[in-house]
Amino acid sequence: MTSRFIVGNWKMHKTVSESETLVREILTAYCAHPSVEVAIAPSFVALQSVAALLRGTSIHLAAQTVYQEDEGAFTGEISPPMLKAVGCRYIIIGHSERRHILGETNQDVNLKIKATLRNQLQPIVCVGERLEEREAGLTTQVIHTQLQEGLTGIPIQDLGKITVAYEPVWAIGTGKAATVEQATEVHGEIRRFLHRQFGIDSQTQRILYGGSVSMENANALFESPEINGALIGKACLNAESFGKIILLASQ
Ligand code: PEP
Repeated sequence: MTSRFIVGNWKMHKTVSESETLVREILTAYCAHPSVEVAIAPSFVALQSVAALLRGTSIHLAAQTVYQEDEGAFTGEISPPMLKAVGCRYIIIGHSERRHILGETNQDVNLKIKATLRNQLQPIVCVGERLEEREAGLTTQVIHTQLQEGLTGIPIQDLGKITVAYEPVWAIGTGKAATVEQATEVHGEIRRFLHRQFGIDSQTQRILYGGSVSMENANALFESPEINGALIGKACLNAESFGKIILLASQ
């Protein structure tokens, strides 16, 4: 069985000094456990100071997105080598807010995954359907397309380094998480698709669930053998709830 993986996505929250305070609180509330890997993704401007506070701990640093080129005239963008130099290990790619608010396409996601892997960083690739797509019976099709186009052209030896996060758009930030049955069904489908299309080992592929994960529902979600951890938004901005979810993941 793969170890569980808990990732906190801070989104566009917290100034640098607020970020430092939250990391200190998380480090106080958190108990490292060998069966759970933890990463946090603060804003770009807070990465350096958060990295300094995480040094010597077992919590990894992640970025919330990246640009697909290593350097150049791309005003406002941040490259994989910059993120690597500041201490990131993981990069969240294709979050639904980037897809649906900022217009990222599956082709952008594909280029970003390639750039991330080229720089020996590990992508956390988000996929998920919108409510109208689920209601129209299109969930599987939408996710297949996101994975097929997102992972095209990536060598098999690199595919194993990718974590997939299933994040139904209707569950993100709404307080209305997918049920364990809904998440389990889609995770199983993702696992089978990755094996069929790309030859990815179903046993070792890590698939996280994201969408209104909380202290209250985490335990039930982690009982599903298909759910290898969580990508967390709101509940990771509070050290106590983030620590509690990590603890539940360790049990
Ligand atoms: C997210 O943004 O990835 C997320 C899952 O947010 P929340 O936990 O707030 O639904």
